[in-house]
Amino acid sequence: MRRCIAFRPKVTKSEKMKKIKESLSAFGQSISLTFRACGHYAILRLLFSFLLACLPFVSASIWRNVLNELSESNPVWKQLAVFVIFWGMSQLIRKIDGFIDYKYNDRVNLYLETVFLDKYKDIDLSFYDSGETQNKLQHVQNIKNSVVGLSSNLFSVLEYLIRMIWAFVLLTQLNFWVGPVSVLLFLPVILCQIKTNQITIKYDKESAAISRRSQYFKLLFRNRKNISDIKVYGLHELFIRRFSDAWNALYKSNKKRIGITVILIFVGLIFSTVLGQVLLFGLLIRNLLTGTLLIGDVSFFIAVFSSFIAAADSFTHGVSYIQYMLENTKIVREFLALEPSVQRSGDKKPLFEHEIEFRHVSFKYPGTENYVLQDCSFRIEKGETVGLVGLNGAGKTTIVKLLLRLYDVNDGMILLDGADIREIELTAYRKQFGVLFQDYMPYSLTLRENIALSDWNERENDTAVIRALTRSKMLEKVNTWTNGLDTPLTRRFEPDGEELSGGQWQRIALARAFFRPKSFYILDEPSSSLDAIAEYEIFHQYSGSWTDCGALIISHRLSTIADADKILFLQGGKIIEQGTHKELLEEDGQYADLYLTQAKKYED
Ligand code: ADP
Repeated sequence: MRRCIAFRPKVTKSEKMKKIKESLSAFGQSISLTFRACGHYAILRLLFSFLLACLPFVSASIWRNVLNELSESNPVWKQLAVFVIFWGMSQLIRKIDGFIDYKYNDRVNLYLETVFLDKYKDIDLSFYDSGETQNKLQHVQNIKNSVVGLSSNLFSVLEYLIRMIWAFVLLTQLNFWVGPVSVLLFLPVILCQIKTNQITIKYDKESAAISRRSQYFKLLFRNRKNISDIKVYGLHELFIRRFSDAWNALYKSNKKRIGITVILIFVGLIFSTVLGQVLLFGLLIRNLLTGTLLIGDVSFFIAVFSSFIAAADSFTHGVSYIQYMLENTKIVREFLALEPSVQRSGDKKPLFEHEIEFRHVSFKYPGTENYVLQDCSFRIEKGETVGLVGLNGAGKTTIVKLLLRLYDVNDGMILLDGADIREIELTAYRKQFGVLFQDYMPYSLTLRENIALSDWNERENDTAVIRALTRSKMLEKVNTWTNGLDTPLTRRFEPDGEELSGGQWQRIALARAFFRPKSFYILDEPSSSLDAIAEYEIFHQYSGSWTDCGALIISHRLSTIADADKILFLQGGKIIEQGTHKELLEEDGQYADLYLTQAKKYED
């Protein structure tokens, strides 16, 4: 039978150097993050590491004196008094250290959470489209605490290192070779720990996808949007099964990992401690019998050796944990260094004096093959209300996303008064738009806050809030609420919150889009949850009212856009017809076809 030989790629010297440099830099960044979060607690933790490292040896040497004095029948009350005082102080030091540790972790965690949340604003929308990148996000979420763990562990490792050095020096007083031999004995434990880490790092990476899947099925039960489906279609069993399948897959690979690591560490530890103790006890008994040591000295060296073993065990564990966290910190660092491609923009000021133009635009979503838009061209002039029509999947929402620069075009360009929008400063550019998204978001905030999200600084401007509510025909309803503009929406957090219907939420989202006078309004399916009367009141009454700005309205209901100054019909990635409602009907093309089909449906 032929053997399959797996070649492990040889790691070159420069690759090794690169890895070391990356590790050092990740290490540096993690330390600097923690110092930025709470430098004073970090310094206090450092000082207490030194103090804690000394405690076991001071205790052992007090007991050494007590036992030696006792073996020579001398009074020991003085030594006992010293011990009691020392014990009290060491308890106090431990308690203070615990408190500092708690505060330190709390501050660093909060800081890190905010740094992470802030980073999300820079992530391209395309990042959320692919499962692979979502797995990466999940992985980063899982391991982000490594940054805190790394620095926190560093303090502990320092403490154990000082303890080991102390113990090493004290053991050499017994015999010069005891110290070095104790260190040598611990090498197998270190090797086992390194191997364990490699397994854990690999497992963490592999499990991110399964963990995201199990989370998904779990969260379905907490999402209000799904809960009706779950109840009506009886989906709970299916989703629970999917959740437990993913969980079991996670558990299965974790079980194997834990099994291997426990065996590895156990074997290493048993070998080191048993052999070390046999050698030490032999030496101590010989010295006791020859009278070189008193009973107090024997107890002292046993305590020092035990302390060495415990410190060395914790030290190797801590160091290997740091090695593991360092790998994670590198991934976290990559995430924090992520540069959005869309964010790259010029510094031109946005002007909307004349028109927006799509010029020969082609676009396909990142990671996909098919073009959604191909050589698509049209113009929207200032003061115009433009309706965009097309069948499902024609690319209408994609046009909105491109206009808002949530994605950038592959070919062609979008121009605002002749300037490529990629050359315009992005934040200022986006501020020109009042947008109602198709999948608008109901927020568990007050009514005022829900509306002012589009212009947060104006949230106390009652006149502007009321104007927006009037435009979206929601004011009458709001006037019946006791808390008026400050009514909490949803009962998620407040028992007296108002629960709204789909149509009412859509009006709130519309009010959000109308809240501040903008240069351009984009309304994607603004009447999908509105009844025909509400639709008429909101849109037909306001037709012709966008004269000082512009509006793009996407709607399936052609009645919503029949009054528009211009209607664009999108098909096959292109605008195939454009004109007023009347012109397009006369043209008797695709738009007329669609309109007559809808009209017939209403007649029936
Ligand atoms: P419309 O708004 O006209 O219904 P969309 O613009 O939402 O259509 O979608 C146009 C096409 O782009 C559809 O075929 C859809 O499957 C595809 N699409 C939309 N969003 C994404 C995405 N994030 N990744 C990949 N393809 C997408």
